[in-house]
Amino acid sequence: MKTAEIKQRWLDYFEANGHTVVPSASVISSDPSILFNIAGMVQFIPYLTGREPAPFNRATSVQKCVRTGDIEEVGKTTRHGTFFQMNGNFSFGDYFKRDAIKFAWGLLTNPVAEGGLGFDPELLWATVHEDDSETIDMWLEETSIPRERVQLRDNEDNFWHTGQPGPGGYCSEIYFDRGPDYGVEGGPVADEDRYIEIWNLVFMEFELSEVRSKVDFDIAGDLPAKNIDTGMGLERVAFLLQGVENMYEIDEVFPVIEAASRLAGRAYGEDEHADVQLRVVADHVRSALIIIGDGVRPGNEGRGYILRRLLRRAVRAMRLLGVKEEVLPELLPVSMQAMKLSYPELETDFDRISRVAFAEEKAFLRTLESGTQLFANAAQSLSGDDKTISGDIAFALHDTHGFPIDLTLEMASEAGLNVDESGFRELMSEQRTRAKADAKAKKGGGHADLSAYSALLDEGTSEFVGYDRLEADSRVR
Ligand code: ATP
Ligand code: MG
Ligand code: MG
Ligand code: MG
Repeated sequence: MKTAEIKQRWLDYFEANGHTVVPSASVISSDPSILFNIAGMVQFIPYLTGREPAPFNRATSVQKCVRTGDIEEVGKTTRHGTFFQMNGNFSFGDYFKRDAIKFAWGLLTNPVAEGGLGFDPELLWATVHEDDSETIDMWLEETSIPRERVQLRDNEDNFWHTGQPGPGGYCSEIYFDRGPDYGVEGGPVADEDRYIEIWNLVFMEFELSEVRSKVDFDIAGDLPAKNIDTGMGLERVAFLLQGVENMYEIDEVFPVIEAASRLAGRAYGEDEHADVQLRVVADHVRSALIIIGDGVRPGNEGRGYILRRLLRRAVRAMRLLGVKEEVLPELLPVSMQAMKLSYPELETDFDRISRVAFAEEKAFLRTLESGTQLFANAAQSLSGDDKTISGDIAFALHDTHGFPIDLTLEMASEAGLNVDESGFRELMSEQRTRAKADAKAKKGGGHADLSAYSALLDEGTSEFVGYDRLEADSRVR
């Protein structure tokens, strides 16, 4: 079943059950505290918090999401993309837990011929918050799941709140068992690689008076209107239904792996290290395509920096596979072709999108060439037990070669080396002080010839870490 068909089945099912179909919002978040939409619920926050009256009682959507917090997982787990689509159904003061469970179970287990997804009910597991006993009863009453396949979890995993006083509530998640070839027995609490989380049901039921941490908060009472917010990972369901090994092998992503593997002359599936790089390439190219499609341009901070980082990582992954030439002119069109069934605008807007991406790759390749050489020389000249690239070198890489620090860190870690980051930061701040003094003296200042990438250092990494530090993922879901 193609990914686009799963999406359509989802929308048809919830529409038939009284939900208004709402188009995906842009990946650019309308909530100023996060850069990208990280969940389907973000565009509904005003209704979920009661700030605005909802124009419908029930809604459904397939939301384009970007979670840069998952970037390190990409290609290594089977199930984390920087871009993915979250299918959601929402109730604004209308149905609650029982129907949310009924709807989810129905769609997952109804036969394909009857509009369902045809999952084997024997292979589904659920988790429930340890204090939420009514939800356990509902699972047992509304579905064929036995008590042994309903597992209990605590606040860490199965409680949702915004991080601030306001709405909060228990979650109940649905997992699919891939079988003994994929890990140990014992349900999702034992092994989340074998048991794949596909769907999270969030029951917004309480008013929290104080929130001290993710797990430590005070429940003041019930919300006047209880809401349902759910999120199902479209790519995860697609990979399980398409009989492939991971979300990078689905119809919307795999063609890029194939194209990259042809370019690199490396067969996919022969070497785990190379496969990870190929999956990173396919994931990041797709994310960049969508992010540029929604109007972001590469830049030195915020969204632009994240886009730049994705493109840069994709290009560098190809380089690690031995491809030194430009790769995006080959790979981006393949990604667009694979995605256009779901997002036709990617094709009509492809001229603009590709111009942005190709220019970024060209600029990056120029800086990469010179920096890589300096790095290699520095690594080679380390003697004996010395495993640290000096702050001077990291600074020279940045200052002369426009080499962003996160790239230096990444390359060092791949070579089993460290970087003297504090030495580097010291040199950076000295340079900033000098630049300020210069600017004062000259009224305008020099440094105009620094490459575009140099500026990344000043804001780039801290910006990126800053975003992660928002813990955006846990904040909203
Ligand atoms: P995980 O524990 O696997 O990281 P999560 O608990 O962070 O997932 P939720 O925040 O509950 O995920 O999001 C709802 C659903 O969205 C998940 O059940 C999953 O199917 C999907 N999902 C979450 N993150 C990703 C991702 N990075 N790539 C693909 N799908 C994802
Ligand atoms: Mg989870
Ligand atoms: Mg979850
Ligand atoms: Mg996660």
